[in-house]
Order: sequence, then C-alpha cells, then structure tokens
Amino acid sequence: MLRFHNTLSNQLEDFHPLNGNEVKMYICGPTVWNFAHIGNFRSFTFGDILARYLRYKGYRVTHVMNLTDVDDRIINESAKKNISIDEMTAPFITAFWEDMDAIGNLRPDIAPRATEHVAEMIEIIQTLLDNGKAYESDGSIYFRITAFPEYGKLSKIKFEGNKVGGSERIDTDKYEKEDARDFALWKLVDKSDPAGWDAPFGYGRPGWHIECSAMSMKYLGETFDIHAGGIDLQFPHHENEIAQSEGATGKLFAKYWLHGEFLKIDNEKMSKSLGNEFTLRDIIGRGFKPLAIRYLLFSVPYDKQLNFTFENLKGAESTIDRLQDFKKRLQEAHLTDGINTDLQEKVRGFLNDFEEAMDDNLNTSVALASLHNLVREVNTALAHETVLTEDRSEILHIIDKYDSVFGIFGEAKEEILDAEIEKLIEERQEARRNRNFGRSDEIRDLLAEKGIILEDTKDGVRWKRK
Ligand code: AMP
Ligand code: ZN
Repeated sequence: MLRFHNTLSNQLEDFHPLNGNEVKMYICGPTVWNFAHIGNFRSFTFGDILARYLRYKGYRVTHVMNLTDVDDRIINESAKKNISIDEMTAPFITAFWEDMDAIGNLRPDIAPRATEHVAEMIEIIQTLLDNGKAYESDGSIYFRITAFPEYGKLSKIKFEGNKVGGSERIDTDKYEKEDARDFALWKLVDKSDPAGWDAPFGYGRPGWHIECSAMSMKYLGETFDIHAGGIDLQFPHHENEIAQSEGATGKLFAKYWLHGEFLKIDNEKMSKSLGNEFTLRDIIGRGFKPLAIRYLLFSVPYDKQLNFTFENLKGAESTIDRLQDFKKRLQEAHLTDGINTDLQEKVRGFLNDFEEAMDDNLNTSVALASLHNLVREVNTALAHETVLTEDRSEILHIIDKYDSVFGIFGEAKEEILDAEIEKLIEERQEARRNRNFGRSDEIRDLLAEKGIILEDTKDGVRWKRK
C-alpha cells in the first residue's frame, strides 16, 4: 500500500486517489527569471520521481507544473534591459526544459504559464470579492484572512498574536491592509506599466499565490489529489493557495500535500539570494554528468535535507558509472542456455524490496539499496557463471522497471515497457468484450502516442513499435 506523509494532516496516510485509478497532481514550477539551480532541481526531481512511481503503480497520472513568468524580479529585470517580460523569460524557459531533459526529468503533461492564465485568476478574485473574502484597498485587492477561519491548517502556524496593525508583519506591502496577514491577490499598477492587465477591479497584475490556484484548478478540477513543492512554499504560498481556492469554491482544494526538503550547501539553504547556488550548467561545465546530479538529488529521501558537496557528487558519478557498466556487461555476457530459478527469485525479491521502500513515502535511499543488492547478487552469479540466458532477459526487464522510476541508466526513459503494453492490450480486449468502445479507442490512442501500433488479427492482437 502506497503511503505518503501528508503535510496537511501531518500523518503518514494510505494513498487513495479521489477517482479510481486516476491521479491528478500539481507541483509548483520555477520562476523563469534566471537559470534554475540544483536546489530547485531537487524539488523538480522529487516531483518527477513521484509521478514516475505513481505510473509504475499503474495509476493514470496527470502531472501539471506551472511556469511563473511574471513577478517582481522578472518585471525589474525586463525594465532594466528595456525588453518585454516575454522577451526576458523566453531564453530561461528554453533553458529550463533543456535542463529538465538533461537531468532526466520527464516533462509534465501540462506546463501552464501564469501570463496566459490571468483571466482565470481574475475570475477567482471576482468570486472572492463577491463572497466577502476579498476587499479593495488603495486600488489593490487583498484576501481577508478573518473570513477564512481555517487559515493556518497547512502550516500549523498560530496567528493569535498577529492582530491588525501588529508590529510583527509577515508580509511587507506598501498599501493599507485590514490585517497584517492579509495578502495581495491583485496589485494595482500604473496604466503606463506594460506589465499589467485589465480587470473589472482595475488595471493591475496578479499576486503570486493566485497563479497556482488558477492554473491547478483549471487543469485538475476544484479538488485534486496531490499538491507538491519545496518546503519553503508551505507557508505562505501553499497556505494562501488553500485560502483562495477553498474560499472561492467551498470545497477541499488538494487531498495530499507533499513537501520536499532543501538541498543545502555548507549547511545553508542553496538559494540565489544567498549567492551559494550552482546551476545545472555550472555543474555540467565542471565535467560532471547530469545523471550523477540526478542520482545525488534523490539518493536521500525527499523529506530529508541533503547537504551538497563535490565529494558526494563524485561518489554519485562513480555509482552511476558502475550501474551502467553492470547493465552493459550483463547485456554482452556470453551465457549458457537455461534458467536459474533461484537467481530469478532473488532478483524479484529485490524489486519487491524496492516497491516496499517506495510505498513507504518514497524512501528512495532504501529503494536504491535494493538495486545495489541486486547488482551485487548478479555480479557474484556472473562470476560463478550461474546466470543463464533466460535469466538475463528477466534481470534486464527488472532493471528496466527500476529505471522507469529512477531514470539513471541513460536511455530513452519515455519508452513504455513491454509489460505495460501487454497490460493495456488486455484491458482493451476486456473493454471490447464489454462493448466499451470508448475506452478501447482511448487505449489504442494512448498506445499510438507512445509509438505502439496494434494489429487485430484472427489469432488475436499483435503489436509492434513504430
Ligand atoms: P522558485 O523558482 O524560486 O519559485 O523555486 C522553484 C522550486 O524550487 C520551489 O518548489 C522551491 O521550493 C524549490 N527550491 C528552492 N530552493 C531549494 C533548495 N535549496 N532545495 C530544494 N528545493 C528548493
Ligand atoms: Zn505554486
């Protein structure tokens, strides 16, 4: 049984999607004002491993990750360079996807941009104005926290001591707010400012938090399964997303909240503002393989901090070299015909350990240990010449299963596994027997998307790769 530590309940919970076999997940994406650093990529790689493992478990996943392509930093930079915000962000968006590919993160299914969803944000803000959960002050619109009594349920921060006009301001803003905690949904900007949009409540631009409420609900519905992001987003960003979304819909926003811990360096959070960051490009420029970074980033479970050093990066690189080399040797070994059921059973046992570890709130370090155990066992068997031809295909198949989640063996990871294809074909046959032709066509299309062609013959269904 897959279990997650849900930040909302602060408990380890069994995972039950809202709707059968479908999982709808949202992860907060990058602010594209600069190259993402490897701390950012720790969060995105955690999101990738999460989506991959859900697919491994057979769920149909819709993975949405936004791009924040308007904020103060982007506006300031573009004004400095005298270019539009689109011109300012375009090269960083391209670079971001290049980096994602290089580090082996599969692209999300949908990657909406904030600037293309302002209409949806305006709609939510209008709903909040209409139902009294937002108010106007000096032309800007604020969320009224006193109108949402559950405020604080995610971060567990108690706000009693922080009354109107209190000295402990959480957020500094130049406008008058009813309550220090209230946050901006819409910021008034001058008509001459190009970084603004028309709204019924005035020319302005959206606050950061409203972006994620609008884009997640647009693509995943008012209530969806999983919302993830780095731990620094828990408060205020995610707390505010909940307030805005639930304040507008009256429904639960996201069922499971997962937060990834920091990548640290010299025991400080890696961040642009501290100037201690390395981008993926910096690391590759120093001669390291991007997959070594990937390995390092998920070698510690997502909910534990990880301290970055070049020493442990070197270690990660020699580990993936060893793993890739092992696979190659196994593929090329001259083996005797036959089957060694003992060995196969052991190897399947390791995969079982992997699943148990991943089911346990994605414990990637224990899951990786099972892969290393597999390699040790098979290496010993190779040395004793007890790996036989039929074992090889089974072991390679199991390595593919590991790699559909880890993505470290350096091959085209999007490729659908044979076993998955067979399973889908079976499901399609079943759908046709039940005269559910909608579903059967859907499966045919899904397979076509992955480059699998089906042929209905009198002897049954045959398939081939394009
Ligand atoms: P940003 O581009 O600043 O909006 O951040 C993108 C993502 O990176 C967010 O999910 C952050 O929580 C995450 N993030 C930022 N710094 C770190 C870090 N040092 N370690 C892990 N995740 C981080
Ligand atoms: Zn967000």
